[in-house]
Amino acid sequence: MIDPPKLRNDCFALPPGIDWVPMEQALSALRERMHPVVATESVPLGAAAGCRLAEDLHARRSNPPAPNSAVDGYGFAGPAPEGVVEMPLAPGRAAAGVPFEGSVKAGEAIRILTGAILPDGVDTVVLQEDCSVAEGRVAFRGPLKHRANARKAGEDVEAGDLLLPAGRRLKPQDIALLAASGHETVPVFKPLRVGVLSSGDEIVSPGAVAPEAMRPGQIYDANRVMLLSQVAQWGFEAVDLGLAPDSRDGLRALLDAARGQVDAVLTSGGVSTGDEDHVSALLGSEGRLETWRIAIKPGRPLALGLWGDLPVFGLPGNPVAALVCTLLFARPALEVLAGGAWFRPEGYQLPAAFAKNKKPGRSEFLRARIGPDGRVECFASEGSGRISGLGWASGLVELDEAAREIVPGDAVRFIPYAAFDG
Ligand code: AMP
Ligand code: MG
Repeated sequence: MIDPPKLRNDCFALPPGIDWVPMEQALSALRERMHPVVATESVPLGAAAGCRLAEDLHARRSNPPAPNSAVDGYGFAGPAPEGVVEMPLAPGRAAAGVPFEGSVKAGEAIRILTGAILPDGVDTVVLQEDCSVAEGRVAFRGPLKHRANARKAGEDVEAGDLLLPAGRRLKPQDIALLAASGHETVPVFKPLRVGVLSSGDEIVSPGAVAPEAMRPGQIYDANRVMLLSQVAQWGFEAVDLGLAPDSRDGLRALLDAARGQVDAVLTSGGVSTGDEDHVSALLGSEGRLETWRIAIKPGRPLALGLWGDLPVFGLPGNPVAALVCTLLFARPALEVLAGGAWFRPEGYQLPAAFAKNKKPGRSEFLRARIGPDGRVECFASEGSGRISGLGWASGLVELDEAAREIVPGDAVRFIPYAAFDG
């Protein structure tokens, strides 16, 4: 297997003079710079669900491979005219996997079962429920169209057809198509290893200190477990890189340990320009850092950096902003790093159940869900620390940069969380 190329040193750089980046521009800049960083391997079909295809795959066999019956019944050369039709039955029968070897004469019918190859002389099948059979003859009421209840060879896919393109994340349904078309192992990208770390002196790992023993100001690390679970759900290998204190040395040690162990890092917290924002400070002085001031809410600057050749997505510390930035920016970028295709999550225009006066300048993402009446409800508070709203919601409402005066019933774009699964 060939080692894929590393990302370019300036892969996250923005053109000079750019300050606030509109979201669309940030996304297209990110899209241009990402490419697969994982090697390929061959895996058996049974283990391939969720993997990303490393090559275009073509059908090695047509499906169905031969014309066959779609029902249990009686086969003959169609069509059948209007009125009562009666035919002598040829001896023998055609069953799935046990073809009838002889040929059926014109004017004769033969017993045939679902999936059986159409014998020579048969192109039309009448359903057994529509037939009477007695004394070696079958009778039914016509008309019946030519080729009724018969499946053509290759009507699903023809040998040589493109089945699935490189980059496709394989679904169970795709695995069925590959199996039916003659594949038993598939070339896929090895899972992208995504490391997740949190930073902040106030942050405590869940379980490390009992709630009653926490000091004032300490809070539990909600982001790391959330992001680890989320990247695992996306088919990446989630690697817990731990918790970094607000110190350069502690953070440097964790990032150094990550090299060779993971292919990309998600960090949360410490990415602003405050005194204790060590992630941006360290990447800026000892790695490579580009701070993207993206015009979205929630989400303060997004720090995109390289630690050696390891891409680092520096996310805001607030759990809501951390998740929103992960979904919007890290998600498609990770997909491409993993060998998949860049994608935009599918959204739907649905009537709002809420009113909102939105100012111009930034895109906004609201925690939202579809109510019983099919309208989109928004979480009562837009506060970026309100973790309860993340799970309350089943997706996000996206409002673009323009000013908007939304009243109930207006169409808004709702993006279900599931749309980020790819
Ligand atoms: P920061 O970006 O480090 O200034 O953090 C912004 C806010 O998010 C602060 O209130 C932090 O305490 C909070 N925060 C940072 N990291 C986490 C985390 N891992 N889990 C929960 N809250 C966090
Ligand atoms: Mg902090």
